[in-house]
Amino acid sequence: MSKPSLEASFDTLKQTIPLLLKHSIPAIPTNYALWYTYVNNDSPELNAELDNAVADNQPLSELKSQELYRTHLADKQEVSIWDLRQSLEGMLIELNQSMKDTRSDTSEYKTVMDRCIDDLNKVEQEGWTIEEVMGLVRNMVTEAQTIRQSTISFNSALSSAEKEIERLREQLKESQQEALYDALTGLCNRRYFDSEIESKIAMDRISLMLIDIDHFKVINDTHGHQMGDLVLKAVARKLQSGCRDNAQVFRYGGEEFALIMPNADLPIARRVAESLRKSVEKIAVKNRRTGETLGDITVSIGVAQKEENEAHPELIERADKLLYQAKKLGRNRVMPIT
Ligand code: GH3
Ligand code: MG
Ligand code: MG
Repeated sequence: MSKPSLEASFDTLKQTIPLLLKHSIPAIPTNYALWYTYVNNDSPELNAELDNAVADNQPLSELKSQELYRTHLADKQEVSIWDLRQSLEGMLIELNQSMKDTRSDTSEYKTVMDRCIDDLNKVEQEGWTIEEVMGLVRNMVTEAQTIRQSTISFNSALSSAEKEIERLREQLKESQQEALYDALTGLCNRRYFDSEIESKIAMDRISLMLIDIDHFKVINDTHGHQMGDLVLKAVARKLQSGCRDNAQVFRYGGEEFALIMPNADLPIARRVAESLRKSVEKIAVKNRRTGETLGDITVSIGVAQKEENEAHPELIERADKLLYQAKKLGRNRVMPIT
């Protein structure tokens, strides 16, 4: 793409701002970049996705905007927290080794590094935000810089460590991707769901479906956790392929899924639920190791259409109650009945 003239970019600007206003989108740089690209039509896929996301005046959630920005505009480099942890840990061990070699007084520094290793264990646990991980990296850089002043022979190890830290810092930025998707099923995660439902609840017509696998604990207990995981993936795939018209599927919890259906009333949502329920019944998961095939997978579903002025926690609660009724009535069914 060649550099646009000042006049042309001003022209684009004049078209971008009204779009941000129209869709009530905060004018932060990433959103601006997203809609500027839209107006320029630089990325037809982005335009199609944006058109789809705001079709029938659907509100655009903050996380959806982030996702589109990341997919279409940011450099697509995915990093798993696990990989990051491994390389950070490897680097710390190496640093510690170099420290021993220099035979300088390392006791204080070692304490700090040990603490960093402890902190790294927390990276995998939920609740660690990118900012916190960045804070840890920053801490390490500061400590590394302090020690540099006290020893010369340590310098070369340190500079390569700093380069590594810099690289990791870049990757950490990219790893925010993980904050949107569920690692096992690849579906959008609960955090994404919370953001979507909160912004979409303003729509006049919208339905919510909560889907829970029946007797999943028995599947785990009888066939093992790995087979359980395969079942979760298979159900996720079925739900994803069975939803249309802007419906979005999320992994809501362990063996629970949620479907947000903009513009769908209760009869439509019920019909979709019924067809999803039937398609799950057809799933057959094969265990490659033992050759056994697992069938009889069923789900219970609670469906609710938003009532006038209803807030999202109430809508979720109603769908959840209906799901509970479906369980009580014997599972493998959709509630309400009509
Ligand atoms: P119900 O029909 O009433 O829903 O029964 P259930 O057994 O499906 O429900 P329960 O809540 O008792 O058990 C859910 C089980 O799902 C317990 C938990 O260990 C398992 N689970 C949650 N997340 C995962 C996962 O990621 N993988 C596997 N394999 N199992 C999981
Ligand atoms: Mg459950
Ligand atoms: Mg269950």
